[in-house]
Order: sequence, then C-alpha cells, then structure tokens
Amino acid sequence: MSDLPTFFERAATSPGIAARFADIHPPLGPQAAKVEADRCLYCFDAPCTIACPTHIDVPGFIKKIASGNLTGSARTILDANILGASCARACPVEVLCEGACVLNHHTRKPIQIGRLQRFAMESLHASGAGLPFAPAADTGRSVALIGAGPASLSCAAELRRRGIRAVLYDARPLPGGLNTYGVAEYKLPLSESLREIDMLAELGVDFHFNMPIDAQTLADLERSHDAVFLGVGLGAIHRLGIAGEHLAGVTNALDFIAGYKSGAIDSVPPRVAVVGAGNTAIDAAIAAVRLGALDVYMLYRRGAEQMSAFSFEYEHARQEGVKFLWHVQPTGIHGADAVEALTLVKLAATEDDSLIQQAGSEFTLPVDLIILAIGQSTHTSFLGDSEKVRLERGRILIDRATGQTSHPKFFAGGDCTNGGREVVDAVADGKRAGIGIAGWLEGQHA
Ligand code: SF4
Repeated sequence: MSDLPTFFERAATSPGIAARFADIHPPLGPQAAKVEADRCLYCFDAPCTIACPTHIDVPGFIKKIASGNLTGSARTILDANILGASCARACPVEVLCEGACVLNHHTRKPIQIGRLQRFAMESLHASGAGLPFAPAADTGRSVALIGAGPASLSCAAELRRRGIRAVLYDARPLPGGLNTYGVAEYKLPLSESLREIDMLAELGVDFHFNMPIDAQTLADLERSHDAVFLGVGLGAIHRLGIAGEHLAGVTNALDFIAGYKSGAIDSVPPRVAVVGAGNTAIDAAIAAVRLGALDVYMLYRRGAEQMSAFSFEYEHARQEGVKFLWHVQPTGIHGADAVEALTLVKLAATEDDSLIQQAGSEFTLPVDLIILAIGQSTHTSFLGDSEKVRLERGRILIDRATGQTSHPKFFAGGDCTNGGREVVDAVADGKRAGIGIAGWLEGQHA
C-alpha cells in the first residue's frame, strides 16, 4: 500500500455542509434490510435486472442479504457494476429498477432496491474488505483513459480484471467526474464517491490529475498506449446570450454544485434564480435553499408537463420551498457590478408549438445570484481538426456493443457519446468498452 493519503482522506467536507446536506434516503439498518429483502419475490427473468443498464442480478444480491451473506451480496453487485455503491445512491431508481418491480402491479410498494444495494455495499466498506476480485496476470498491454468519471472508472476495472494496464488522465485534482463533483451532496457525498474509487485504485489503476488533454497530448497518448478510451463527458453549460451575463453573481449549475461540494461555497445570498428545469437545475435550486437562500425561483420557458426533470425531483424541490415561474424567458440581467435583477418576458406557444414573447409582458425579478442550468455543450475540441473519430451532432459515434469509434484504436462511452444520461448508463458504457477493448487487443495480438 502507498503512504499517500487515499482519495477519501483527501476529501474535506466541512461539518456545516455535511449537516445541511444530510442523506435524502437514510440507510437501512440490518434488521430493516432483512425485512425488506424478505419481501422480494425473487422473480425469474426479473424486470428489475432488465431495467438496470448494468444488469445487476437484483434478486441474486437481495437473496444474499436475506441469508446474511453480505460479502456475497456486494460481490454480485460489483460483478455487474463496479460503482455499485454510488449508483445505489445516485440512480433514479424510481424510473429504473424500482419502477420495474413487479410489486408495482399489485398496488404494493416496490422493493427498495437502491437502499438494499447501499446496505450491501456499505456493509462491505464497513468490513474493511477490498474488492472481491484481483487483477489478472499482466498482459503487457496498456490503455489510456481520458477523463476519470464513471465511464472511465468502469472501463478501467474491466481492463484490470483482464490484466491490461489502465492509466487515467483527468483535468481535475480528484477522480470521479460527476460522481464526485456533480451529484447533489444529499444523494451522493463527495467523500463516498472517493471511498469507492479508493477500492478501485487497489486493482492497480494509475491516475494522473490536473492534466487537461489537447490534440498534442492525445496524439502522444495514442502512440504510447495500445488503445485509448474517451470518457470525457460534456462541456460547459450554455450561456443565455443576453446583456449583463458578465456580472458577478452569474454562475452555472455545475460550477455551483462542485463549489459547495468541495467547500469553496458555503452560503448564498437571499434571492436566487435558477434558469432551466432539468434534474441538474433542481439539484442547484435545492442546494441554494439549503445554503440559506430565502427565495429560490426556477425559471422555465415552458410548463411543468414539459420540464425534463423527473416528477419526483420536481416534487422534492417544491417540498424544499423552491418556487417555479413557468413560461418565462430571461431578457436581461441588471446591476452595477453584481447582479441585482433579472428581466423576464412571458412566453406563449403557437399552433406549431414554437414559443413567442407576449407583448407588454416584461417584468423584473430582484435577484442576487443567477444559476444557469440550460444544458451543456459537447466537448470534442481536444480531438483537434483530425477526422479520426467520427462525430454526430457533436457526440462521438460508437459501436454500442463494443464502444469502438470509427478509429479502431479509439473507444468511447458515457455522456460524450449519449449526450448526457445517468451515471449508471456511463458505467454500463464503460463496462462494454472495457470488454470491447480487451477483445480487440486480443484480436490484434492473434
Ligand atoms: Fe424482487 Fe421486485 Fe425484482 Fe421481483 S421485480 S425480483 S420482487 S425486486
């Protein structure tokens, strides 16, 4: 073992942040977990397993909890999903495994699969045991993985299990990507993301941080490794393109969430506006409430039925006191040096469903902080001008079965290929690509 502090030891969540962002779903105790596990019907062709993008054997791991075999339960989870601990907390289980549970059809509560998965994974962590598998004998082959988010971490685990060196490069100082910096703290604390990656590091994954990649470094990595995996996620959040956007007090949801999770932000001014109505916008709005804002508004150009956030997230935001302004569009930001107000205009839908501004409907909303959450751009500038990896609408095109791009030596997965989905989708992509890379390298060798 290295003498360096673990990633977990490097995480320093302030007590204030920890207190304000307490668990949204408190953990199950051993007795409650056993009772819940005993409710499972252990379905054949279980729909919960099919609904999971990584196809965790859900009845299998639940049965092991019921019989007291907690290490076996964690192993079943990790075999399918190396980030089983973070997915247990960050997954929208309501629309995945729990949404597919057969008990929903019998007007009974679905099995709490997410909380049971968390129980199994935390039991493994509490036991002090590492991952229940080891790297295979060294094949002498190596893969560079660009980005250290869920897709790359999952890919790296598959490579190490096949004896292939996995070297991750990330622009940030800590691994985990959105798991570490972007998931609301009350769902997945930064420290828990890092604890899980510490276990992965024990498989012999190499990490290089503070290393943004450009076309030149990418070419160097292509030369010095047998294959390259692109798990770079998405780029910056879009701007509004209106006057006053340069003022202090205008930020974006990803920087805001990363800021409070890493301790750089511990309070907000009294009046906050979040522009956008996706799940990230909801996370930012709830965070603003918990960081002390008195009035938090979410602004969206359409209505509640069209928002992209899950309905349970919308309900959660309402319960936290977030106010929603529908059918509005920001037209200007005002203030001397910092934000003081936002002007908005009301929108109406035409017959062909495009939006038009309603004449004379402009009004002013006094605010001190504006958080933009209106979607992210793609992040492919580091590929340079070369045509080696084909793109479609800015997304890296891949063979979905293997993760291979149009360049045989390059593989990819996660948000940079799907435009931004769930953490568990990125894990599934990385897993497929790890297996795909190993198969391709074997073919090259033969
Ligand atoms: Fe258990 Fe529900 Fe999955 Fe059936 S669908 S195996 S009851 S969790």
